[in-house]
Amino acid sequence: MTTLDKTYVSGKAVSILGAARSGMAVAALLSRHGAKVFVSEFGQISAQNQSVLEDQGIAWEENGHTARVLESEWVVISPGVPSKVAIVQECVQQGKPVVSEIEVASWFCKAPIVAITGSNGKTTTTELLGHVFRKSGRTTWVCGNVGTPFATVCDQSGEDDVVVLEVSSFQLDHITSFRPHVALLLNITPDHLDRYDYNFELYAASKLSISQNQKESDALVINSDDPAIRDRMPVSRVDGPGLYTFSLEDAPEKALEQAVEGGAYLDKNSLHLHLNNQNEKLMYVDELALRGRHNVYNSLAAAVAARVMEVRSDVVRESLRTFSGVPHRLEVLREIDGVRYINDSKATNVNAVWFALESFSETVVLIAGGRDKGNDYSSLKPLVTSRVRALITIGEAAERMHAELGSCTQDSVIAESLDDAVKLAHLLAKPGDVVLLSPACASFDMFDSYEHRGDQFKQIVSNL
Ligand code: ADP
Repeated sequence: MTTLDKTYVSGKAVSILGAARSGMAVAALLSRHGAKVFVSEFGQISAQNQSVLEDQGIAWEENGHTARVLESEWVVISPGVPSKVAIVQECVQQGKPVVSEIEVASWFCKAPIVAITGSNGKTTTTELLGHVFRKSGRTTWVCGNVGTPFATVCDQSGEDDVVVLEVSSFQLDHITSFRPHVALLLNITPDHLDRYDYNFELYAASKLSISQNQKESDALVINSDDPAIRDRMPVSRVDGPGLYTFSLEDAPEKALEQAVEGGAYLDKNSLHLHLNNQNEKLMYVDELALRGRHNVYNSLAAAVAARVMEVRSDVVRESLRTFSGVPHRLEVLREIDGVRYINDSKATNVNAVWFALESFSETVVLIAGGRDKGNDYSSLKPLVTSRVRALITIGEAAERMHAELGSCTQDSVIAESLDDAVKLAHLLAKPGDVVLLSPACASFDMFDSYEHRGDQFKQIVSNL
């Protein structure tokens, strides 16, 4: 199959599968660089997007992918479109290249790319690194899964800028030449397996492919405490990127069997960097703006990436101290009568709630529940027993969570609505407690999205 590049754009017929955010962005990018673009959407295209496409002279279809897609020379697949759908299979059979939006955008990007992937923590680490680079004075483009598509900003970035890119496994599935200067691999835990034939190996391989085109002058920064990553690192690497580790347990020289260039680690209560054969104490954990063990990982990863990109240590330290956090991830809202209210609506799986509870030394009134995704709540029992004063459950999972976790706490109550849950929490909390919304479930039974759920929570809390 042809390996595409920027020379396959002007005058070429290109089809784009999917007309959501990244599909619309890559359509505009290719159109402004002279391609004849056709957008094909399985569902409906909103009236607003239809007129955006028409204003650019871009042809489109909706309610299904027709054979017209096959008239193009190559195809861009949006992350929401599974690789197994018939139209993609037909393209592959005909030898038509199928690439992702980040692949295309990377052809037009002059700035070095710092790309972040993992099962959890991508958005937090991406925004944190964006903050570090901005503090360093460098023009910084934060994009990808996190909000603005890469295709929207790629051709505006200059050589001296930096692109901080959040990358999902679906975007990595269709890369050919995408080559980040620094790649961060935060963790690999089972997620989205329905898109990978329920095969963890395939999912892990997708995450690892973030590094497949990196060269010696590039850097790969990995979590060496995560066996899913550590065990998949090739033992001998020729011409591969410089390998860096971050860990809560081991200094880089002890972290892997393989030779490493350096990294960051936790020693008692402080974060250390080990780079260019020099050890440096960066800061105390207590100084980090973000709380929780998971955020120590995210902060260590960001610190290594920033230092590899030659951001000064004092700037890194100051940035990790002043980062305001990302909405809906352990977001501190307000304090009423000595009780702090915290919105962690993005905690849509059990693992994220575990890390959230673990991050508090205070007693917690926990509001949880929503749409159960076949969760196993048993791993939460010890933390609910030791830290939770009251459990208030909502949504479709309310009964199950109450049944499985209720006996681990003094009070366990099922609430009819989020509004009732917050009012109950307000009554049950004592000065010094934390009221935490950390659902462990999807939001779609009662809300449009986790953002919608978090925004409603904020609204209710602000009216207390
Ligand atoms: P992603 O973009 O990968 O979904 P987020 O930064 O949005 O990750 O965080 C999602 C959830 O996972 C939040 O509830 C957050 O508190 C939790 N989380 C963040 N970083 C980590 C990490 N390194 N390990 C485990 N959980 C994490």
